[in-house]
Amino acid sequence: MFPVMLRVKDRQCLVVGGGGVALRKAQSLVAEDARVTVVAPEAVEPLREMAHRGQLTLEIRPYREGEAASYTLVFTATDNREVNRRVYTDADSAGVWVNAADDPELCSFHLPARVRRDPLQLAVASAGEAPFAVRRVRQLLEGRFGPEWGEWADAAARFRTLVRDLELEPAEREACFDRFFDATVDRERLSARVPTLAEERTWLVRPTATHAGGRPAPRDPSPVQDEPAATLAPGLVSLVGAGPGCAGLLTLRGWQRLMEADAVVYDRLAAGVLPCGLPSRIELHCVGKTSGRHPVPQEEINAQLVRLAREGKRVVRLKGGDPYVFGRGGEELGMLDAEGIPFEVVPGVTSGVAAPGWMGVPVTYRGEAVAVTLLTAHECNKENGSQVRWDLLAQDPHSTLVGYMGVTTLPRVVKSLLEGGMDPAMPAAMVERGTTALQRSVVTTLAELPGAVDREGLGAPALFIVGPTVRHAEKLDWFSRQPLAGERLVVSEAAPELVRSLEAAGAEIVAAPWPMTPAARVVIGSAPLTGCVVRNRAEVEWLDDEREGPGWEASPVAWCLSQDAADRARELGWRPIEPIESEGQDIAGVVAWIGRLRRRAA
Ligand code: SAH
Repeated sequence: MFPVMLRVKDRQCLVVGGGGVALRKAQSLVAEDARVTVVAPEAVEPLREMAHRGQLTLEIRPYREGEAASYTLVFTATDNREVNRRVYTDADSAGVWVNAADDPELCSFHLPARVRRDPLQLAVASAGEAPFAVRRVRQLLEGRFGPEWGEWADAAARFRTLVRDLELEPAEREACFDRFFDATVDRERLSARVPTLAEERTWLVRPTATHAGGRPAPRDPSPVQDEPAATLAPGLVSLVGAGPGCAGLLTLRGWQRLMEADAVVYDRLAAGVLPCGLPSRIELHCVGKTSGRHPVPQEEINAQLVRLAREGKRVVRLKGGDPYVFGRGGEELGMLDAEGIPFEVVPGVTSGVAAPGWMGVPVTYRGEAVAVTLLTAHECNKENGSQVRWDLLAQDPHSTLVGYMGVTTLPRVVKSLLEGGMDPAMPAAMVERGTTALQRSVVTTLAELPGAVDREGLGAPALFIVGPTVRHAEKLDWFSRQPLAGERLVVSEAAPELVRSLEAAGAEIVAAPWPMTPAARVVIGSAPLTGCVVRNRAEVEWLDDEREGPGWEASPVAWCLSQDAADRARELGWRPIEPIESEGQDIAGVVAWIGRLRRRAA
């Protein structure tokens, strides 16, 4: 088999047949501006419409012997093998390329499956022998090569003309292409980006001295340095807000910074949002408190940031929520500034707005709350008294108070507000681990809040919310209504639709890659799992290696989507196991099944 890409623009092409398959062939030919004639005794409506619009010629009649010979390319897709054979023989004996749908014997060429990222196209073929395998490989590539590859290929074409105009020696030309490729393509993630013109110009220079230290070459000194480069400069520290805990609430820019980093220094509260596919070349440094370990002192964190940046690394300092909201972000940057290290800030979604949102509390509301106060209740502990003016806050019934770090100080906070004159019946709530699968909350009145929190056993990290809008939680709590709220499941990232559907049903999903990455392990270990969903024996074996690690302590349920998976899980001693009753269920069926069993267990 010899692969080619045909330019069919303005070529005469014949499609014999008027059904769905013929329609698809005609559509793809028309999309490439071929001159298409469709011959069939009957034709489906869309073909008639295309003819009506002048996109093709439709002849409603049987195929005439010999007519295939006068075309450049012929497809036959009738349900009559005799007709297909006739078409094939006519075309083939006249030297015309011909393809009969689903009939490899009657084909002088096969159509590959394609992933289109125009102008880039990836074609997959199996000499017509295993179309199912081809389809699956195509899906795999479809998922791996994102839409950015199209723009990237455009940029590559542009870059090629720039290089050509320089009339370089072949080796120099290849060096330019290498620099373009190395700087724009992440080989591990198979992701690509479009460089700026300024960057491209820096890659056009002749290679200077060889590079020491193993860093990629493309950061050669450039003849034109007037525009900033699009990638992170070496030695830059990005202070990135991780959001309140739900991985989807990390900002796009934050995600990009992480993917381009050389080192990530993260807090415990931020661990759950690391992208599972973070390239494993990226150093991960946890500086938060983990069980049994004390948090790294602030001076040590500072020293580490300075050291990493001085090594020329692109450093992401990842902090929970927004880095400036009770996050000491300002202090860390002040220190970097004093050391002369460049930095930038990528704000995050602060828990004080997002966690109330997840439990149905709007922090402002027309006519009810016209201001929000974000405050730290930690201050209540200070010996020299609190810096927070509880007396003033207590006087404002038309605002919302959101208190961070206020679990242990809550009784004192409530006392201060009541003493300041706030209505004991003012709606009040506390929410623990908002936006994650572990979210729990209580909604009551100000006077009752400490008692309720105590009874429910809520603990840090949690926020209290005091103000009239808290009462909306009764109606607007959408999160805990979802069928799978509270589930935290590991699923293979190779099952994107399953991931999406489980997420849509309210579960927190760790979509883990195969092989497992260090980042995915950190994410799994950042909170207890309630289960894993495995489709087959191979997935069971993949996770079996992981089950000793953090995150797996609470005997997560193995939701087995096939008998095979359940058998293997049993062999390996997993417990508890839930084998699906009927194999081959669609995804909606799987989600409903998990929801049903969960309700029964509850
Ligand atoms: N910079 C962070 C806050 C850091 S202070 C932000 O913008 O969100 C840590 C406190 O934040 C915790 O004690 C708790 O009060 C609050 N917090 C952080 N994440 C939380 C969450 N998911 N749910 C509830 N409170 C949270």
